[in-house]
Amino acid sequence: MIRTRFAPSPTGELHIGGARTALFNYLFARSAGGEFLLRIDDTDAERSRKEYEARLLNDLHWLGLTWDAGPDIPSDTPLRQSERGEIYAQWMDRLREAGAVYPCFCTEERLTSLREGQTARGEPPRYDGRCRSLSPDEARRRMEAGERPCWRLALPEGYSAAFNDAVRGPQSFPAGTIGDFVVQRSDGTPTYLFASAVDDYLTGITHVIRGDEHVPNTARQLAIIDRMGWLRPVFAHIPMVLSADRRKLGKRTGSTPIREYRERGFLPEALDAYLATLSWTPEAEANPFDLASLAASFSLDKIAQSSPVHDEEHLLHWQREAIKQRGGEALAAELIAGEPRFAPFEERLAPIVADLLEEAPFLRDLNEALSFLWSRSDSEPREPWMPQLAAELAKLASWTPEAAEGLLRSFMKERGLKGRAFFHPLRRLLTGRDSGAPLPLVVFTLGREECAARLGLL
Ligand code: GLU
Repeated sequence: MIRTRFAPSPTGELHIGGARTALFNYLFARSAGGEFLLRIDDTDAERSRKEYEARLLNDLHWLGLTWDAGPDIPSDTPLRQSERGEIYAQWMDRLREAGAVYPCFCTEERLTSLREGQTARGEPPRYDGRCRSLSPDEARRRMEAGERPCWRLALPEGYSAAFNDAVRGPQSFPAGTIGDFVVQRSDGTPTYLFASAVDDYLTGITHVIRGDEHVPNTARQLAIIDRMGWLRPVFAHIPMVLSADRRKLGKRTGSTPIREYRERGFLPEALDAYLATLSWTPEAEANPFDLASLAASFSLDKIAQSSPVHDEEHLLHWQREAIKQRGGEALAAELIAGEPRFAPFEERLAPIVADLLEEAPFLRDLNEALSFLWSRSDSEPREPWMPQLAAELAKLASWTPEAAEGLLRSFMKERGLKGRAFFHPLRRLLTGRDSGAPLPLVVFTLGREECAARLGLL
């Protein structure tokens, strides 16, 4: 059984990159009839906030993702790392019993100067293993004297982490490039590296799909996994989403929270379709607006290795396509739900909505473009021919946009009115604006009675 997880830290809002990671994990699990878990990595108590967790869940729900286990689903297995302290403590005991970890008493100052020296010599920063040689007696004595060590994994002599990344191919970290890293801080809390490796193991994660900034973490987590003799999950590191200037997405380089796109009126299926194109191309026959169809077409080996660029123009393209896909009927219902004054026009709303979509691909724009339906403008001058037009409209045999168009044209001809002299005052009177949807559609949507009232039929 395939099992994936998305494991955000609730230290901020969900952005494009994180949402894409969540989507890929979801699609991959669903593509194989597997399970998708949502885990909250809140080991950093200082930066983690409950409100961010709530927002993350809300954003993921809005995107249409569902999970089989998560912090909001009652279970005996808590999926918030902050609630799994006992589990980590038990596994730490096992590591201690197995002699796989050792206490480290080095001071911050020593570690800093060690790091600085290594960086200055162009070496990868890593712990030099000084405390590894402390005798157990010495360590115990120092702890009894009140010193509080952190605990490091004792990497086996000559350990080199190599793995076959499902996206990037073979990866290797030669011996000596990683040092003995911290698994438990001196305050007793587990580090992310340790907690996540334990959680992935205990929750049966088969595939870890995450951003490629985690490759160095994978080398360390493999050391834990191998030391414990656990089965390795498959690792798939997906390339980081870049901004238009090919930099990491950040506050100043164009990263926008998913919430903001929602507030701007983007549809969740537009975001999903767009996110799916970041490093992946759904098969031509897949419906990009349907998660089940995307899942059916998803596979890890088709993920591109190059970094995709976040481009709002593309997102806007998907928004246009997505809103067209929703169709006039569904959008009309949504307009009415948001503004009950659209209700009297319900039966005639779909055609004009469909017509406006190209220009107004957001519900908010549609709302605005159609507000003339329920707000008459009383200040527009009425031409002498208008009541007569209303009388003819009232007699129209069938009330369709085509019939309305035919009548407007023949009326204009009969009266010898020139195009603009006819259409412009008519549009101003009916809508209070200089431009908008085609007039026959305006007339049709307003309906016989409303047209008659506006045109001054007595
Ligand atoms: N909490 C980590 C993050 O937000 C998760 C990394 C992982 O997938 O293991 O980056």
